[in-house]
Amino acid sequence: MTSRRQFIQIVPAAGAALLVARTVSAQSDMVTEKDPEAVRLGYVSDANKADKAKFKNWAAGEHCANCGLFQGKPTDAAGPCPLYPGKKVSAKGWCSAYVKKA
Ligand code: SF4
Repeated sequence: MTSRRQFIQIVPAAGAALLVARTVSAQSDMVTEKDPEAVRLGYVSDANKADKAKFKNWAAGEHCANCGLFQGKPTDAAGPCPLYPGKKVSAKGWCSAYVKKA
């Protein structure tokens, strides 16, 4: 049987474990620059760090939040992109498949 003292010790630990699990889950939902498709398309989480020598179509001001393929809201920090199924891209990111939002 769990004593009141043990219960009081367990609850904060369980809360902390849940917080860590949520943080890890949110991070694993993000595309990383090392994902094979991200490498192929030159995805970077900061558009200003794109490989401009390799991807000549990069232009200042382009980033995921103003790309026609970005499926988040313009104010979202991250959102889905159909090129990376099941993952989110940074609103400040960029890849060579960028298309200006109509
Ligand atoms: S296609 Fe558009 S929204 Fe998707 S990663 Fe590339 S720049 Fe970002």
